[in-house]
Amino acid sequence: MPPTSLPVRPDLAGLTPYGAPQLDVPVLLNVNENPHPPSAEVVADLAAAVAEVGSGLNRYPDRDFLALRADLADYLGVESGATGLGAENVWAANGSNEVMLHLLQAFGGPGRTALSFAPTYSMYPEYARDTMTAWVTGRREADFTLDPEHAVAQLREHRPAVVLLASPNNPTGTALPLATIEAVAEAALTTGPAGADGAPTASVVVVDEAYAEFRREGTPSALALLDRYPHLAVSRTMSKAFGLAGARVGYLAAAPELVDVLRVVRLPYHLSAVTQAVARAALRHRGALMAQIAELRAERDRTVTWLREQGLTVADSDANFVLFGHLEDRERVWQGLLDRGVLIRVVGPPGWLRVSIGTAAEMAAFRVALQEVLGL
Ligand code: PMP
Repeated sequence: MPPTSLPVRPDLAGLTPYGAPQLDVPVLLNVNENPHPPSAEVVADLAAAVAEVGSGLNRYPDRDFLALRADLADYLGVESGATGLGAENVWAANGSNEVMLHLLQAFGGPGRTALSFAPTYSMYPEYARDTMTAWVTGRREADFTLDPEHAVAQLREHRPAVVLLASPNNPTGTALPLATIEAVAEAALTTGPAGADGAPTASVVVVDEAYAEFRREGTPSALALLDRYPHLAVSRTMSKAFGLAGARVGYLAAAPELVDVLRVVRLPYHLSAVTQAVARAALRHRGALMAQIAELRAERDRTVTWLREQGLTVADSDANFVLFGHLEDRERVWQGLLDRGVLIRVVGPPGWLRVSIGTAAEMAAFRVALQEVLGL
């Protein structure tokens, strides 16, 4: 090959792709997956649904996937009591990562800003980078909660086109009270960039509820605020509670006018016929797929209690993972666990590690390994 150099975008030069190590070890507790595979009965039904669309795969799929969007709207109604949602309120893509990329493609861009509050999900700055949107972060408090006054001040200062609020937050597990989201959504009515007429637009407020189904009793979903705020979008995924990370299905609920803007930036036929069929079949089996949520929540609470009993600091968690710390050398602890067949994640502020909630047996293996590594 002749010597040449590629015209790599200067801001991408030397960067490596995002992603936790994918290692083949017995106990995988590093990417917040659901440890329970779909049952043989559910797998058979997913396969039947794929077989049914198989003979039509020479054709492009339904570009607007209205049937799936209606099913997802129904599910949100059952799960969160969000009434009045229809297909026109829902958008979906290949994982909620793609849903949120669509949001940044539609509302971000050069000269615009996206705002979030650190520590938070490490993909957010990548959506911003990939859409050439400026990225700014405000702070979370020492216990990882969000001070609504600070949040509103940040909106007024940075005038973001998009605000990303993860609730429960990754990697901390912290859920936001509805009052905090309300304060941000209220302020956001006029904190967006100037519109064509020079008047301020709204900031789009994205509440990323990837882990919402694991929230503790009494923590409401931001879906409850949707009918009041046309600039609010609530993002969800089938990767976590549904245990379908491999199917790649994420979605959001918002006002139809917001959803219609996302339809402009999506690639045509971005959601394959196979994905649509699998997602719809999985929604029919949601009872079976989500049966283990209560058990995972209980296992999470037990893990928090146990870690505290070991003298560790643990963030309160409404998710299927737990952030624990003040470890002097977290890399050593992570490696020690890995040497014992337990893979967790180095993420969060220095001195903290995150463990996903697995089966009871996996959590027992984690506890034994951690006691050995920490000499407890
Ligand atoms: N949001 C948060 C907070 C996450 O932790 C993740 C996955 N780790 C996602 C979104 C994206 O998940 P998916 O693309 O599988 O829906």
